[in-house]
Amino acid sequence: MPVPVSQMWTVATYVLRQKLAGRKQYPLVLMLEPLFRCNLACAGCGKIQYPAHILKRDLTPEECFRAVDECGAPMVSIPGGEPLMHPQIGEIVEGLVARKKYIYLCTNALLLKEKIHLFQPSKYLTFSIHLDGQREEHDLAVCREGGYDIAVEAVKDALQRGFRVTTNTTLFDGANPKSVRAFFDEMMDLGVEGMMLSPGYSYDKAPDQKHFLGRARTRRMFRAILSNRKKNWRFNLSPLFLEFLMGKRTYPCTPWGMPTYNIFGWQKPCYLLQDGYAETFAELLATTEWNNYGTESGNPACANCMVHSGYESSAVNATFSSLSGFLATVKATLFTHYRDEEALRLLDQPEEPVHPLIQIAPTGEPAQSLQETRV
Ligand code: SF4
Repeated sequence: MPVPVSQMWTVATYVLRQKLAGRKQYPLVLMLEPLFRCNLACAGCGKIQYPAHILKRDLTPEECFRAVDECGAPMVSIPGGEPLMHPQIGEIVEGLVARKKYIYLCTNALLLKEKIHLFQPSKYLTFSIHLDGQREEHDLAVCREGGYDIAVEAVKDALQRGFRVTTNTTLFDGANPKSVRAFFDEMMDLGVEGMMLSPGYSYDKAPDQKHFLGRARTRRMFRAILSNRKKNWRFNLSPLFLEFLMGKRTYPCTPWGMPTYNIFGWQKPCYLLQDGYAETFAELLATTEWNNYGTESGNPACANCMVHSGYESSAVNATFSSLSGFLATVKATLFTHYRDEEALRLLDQPEEPVHPLIQIAPTGEPAQSLQETRV
């Protein structure tokens, strides 16, 4: 099942309205984090590092609705933490559906079968299942044996009940492109609507040459994975963002396109960095020093970054900014094979991880066992 026409229409007309109004900074997807608690301790995630009194806190449904109404973005992504651990997640989703927002509820699916009765199938609601690759790769990434099998069973169950289901996958240095491509086949066989991809974010403050290498390695990996594409692969991403990952395009970061709201307020400047908080979305736009962020800014925190939350809205904006951008999108939608002999050769030369993944210990374990990862 492809993305509903109504969703494409809603997003396209929304962006065009922003363009006609002359708005340079507009939100496309609100990243709504209603809690930081999680039932996993994934190697690439830093959220569970918060102290217990923070992990206990939840946004109320009213706080969620106020943020959604104020932001005005047509799509709302609900990451976390694990949103299904929020005691009022059913009420939150119901309120957003009533507002006709297209919701991507991001879940590791461990609780999905148990909680699915809280939700009704709707064109506005998609379960975005966190799967970081084939069984072995996913279980390693989420540090939980059996996690892949549980998630796949939940996907089947949700699809059978008539829900929209996509996957979201974060890829790190050293991911095996052949295995990732086999994973795409598995997901298409399962019948998911589409797949979302993003490179992992590096927190390492490395010197410039290494920064460049980081982006170069990311492009090389995505070139190998996304070239010579199979016809039946469906991605729930802007086709120009996929070309950006493959190194065919460059974009500036537009973090206001996917702003983050959580228990602390509106996070500056993006989903990844925490350089303060604003009380309102208007204040976030007005008081963030946007020139200090993005690859071109020279900010070392941004040097390696090519993540979805910073650059997909840039790609969508490019589609609607010029005739050439629109035509490039049409071409990328119709001609998706991307034949590339060199990329075929890259498939046989998987890169070794620069830094292997290290598990972040769950909250409550001794401090010396807490280790952050580079990715
Ligand atoms: S480049 Fe990445 S880390 Fe920097 S502001 Fe953009 S999304 Fe955030």
